[in-house]
Amino acid sequence: MPQFTTQPPEDPRGHGLPLIRTPANGKIVLAITTDNLIGCPTHWYGGRTVPCEGENCQPCLEGYPWRWHGYLAGILPGTRRHVLMEFTAQAAEQITQYRDSHQTLRAAILTANRHRNRHNGRVIVSLKPGDNDHLHLPPAPDVIGALSILWNLPATKGEPTDTIKRLPTVRTTPPHKSNGKATKPNTAPTA
Ligand SMILES: [Zn+2]
Repeated sequence: MPQFTTQPPEDPRGHGLPLIRTPANGKIVLAITTDNLIGCPTHWYGGRTVPCEGENCQPCLEGYPWRWHGYLAGILPGTRRHVLMEFTAQAAEQITQYRDSHQTLRAAILTANRHRNRHNGRVIVSLKPGDNDHLHLPPAPDVIGALSILWNLPATKGEPTDTIKRLPTVRTTPPHKSNGKATKPNTAPTA
């Protein structure tokens, strides 16, 4: 028998959020809703960004390089759409500086664009305090939960730490050769 319901099943991981990156042309303006950024080592694997799983991480075992990506949530002006923003360690410097001097990222207005509007141009980030009374910010979403949905991870997740305890192994030589050809990671997009 089919099980008819008038509600879709609830995802125990919470709600997903669309992911945005700094575009080649134009800029992102975001009113940040989260207090802090969160990030982790990731791989460009199978045509998408996936988190490095640390021990027994398949991309690590296959010799894929890793890079840290940071995430925060915010509201886009106009549509007031709640989104996740992905950024690199280099772009994170401005964000952590702002966080450390203001004790929070919430209600900051973040602007990001690329140097010379190039696809892989350096991301230029600036933050300034927004007017909390006028922003009418919704509560901060669960960013790790939203990432778990994005990455299709189980609901259980570890608590974030302030430092990476164990850095992923980076191999400089291809781990194996098949058909005489070395396996090569795809070219990762810049975030
Ligand atoms: Zn890994």
